[in-house]
Amino acid sequence: MADDFMRAAIEEAMLGLSEGGIPIGSVLVYDGMILGRGHNRRVQRGSVVLHGEMDALANAGQQVASVYQASTLYTTLSPCPMCTGAVLLHGIPRVVVGENVTLQGDEALLRSRGVNVEVIQDPTCVRLMTDFVAAHPTLWNEDINASSGGRPVRRYLTSMKTKVSSKGQIVIPAEIRVRDGIRPGEEFDIERLESGEYLLQRRAARVNEGVVDWLLGCPEKEFFVAIESESTDDL
Ligand SMILES: [Zn+2]
Repeated sequence: MADDFMRAAIEEAMLGLSEGGIPIGSVLVYDGMILGRGHNRRVQRGSVVLHGEMDALANAGQQVASVYQASTLYTTLSPCPMCTGAVLLHGIPRVVVGENVTLQGDEALLRSRGVNVEVIQDPTCVRLMTDFVAAHPTLWNEDINASSGGRPVRRYLTSMKTKVSSKGQIVIPAEIRVRDGIRPGEEFDIERLESGEYLLQRRAARVNEGVVDWLLGCPEKEFFVAIESESTDDL
């Protein structure tokens, strides 16, 4: 039975994905029936509040307190602070979480307030998010920045070990370089999150950077000068 409800939440996540959105789905269940179902609509509606859980709660309409207090919220991804707040506000006693590998939400706060949190690490839920994050890192970054006070809290399944070289340089594992098409000489910004925790972000390549600059710098800088031209048709 519980599996059926998580499956319904996954269906919602897939529906969101098919709409071009972030694949996170949720259902609110009372007495063995789904009161409301929903999915993240940040992209579709440009909404910063319609997370999967909020959408499911909104679609369930207004219920009496005794119903919330006997309901279970199923969500494909560990709930953010906003959705955690909604669970606490309505006194929902139980939350079933599809996965907390791609994002660790506020499960600790829920538990500290007596909510029964069950994390099932469903492989489909994990795959939905890891595939999405890999395909749309910027969209996902915006989403977690919006819901975590600007501090990324993701943990990638694909994280790998690396070492700092004797020159103090960070080595990005070859597998990541190949997968993301990172070339030698590319630059990254480093953000220090806290002691021992850093975020590396690839810088956008500057216009004309690359082969043209390299050619113009040969045999030395300013030896050759670029021709002012709007279009190569004029050459
Ligand atoms: Zn949320």
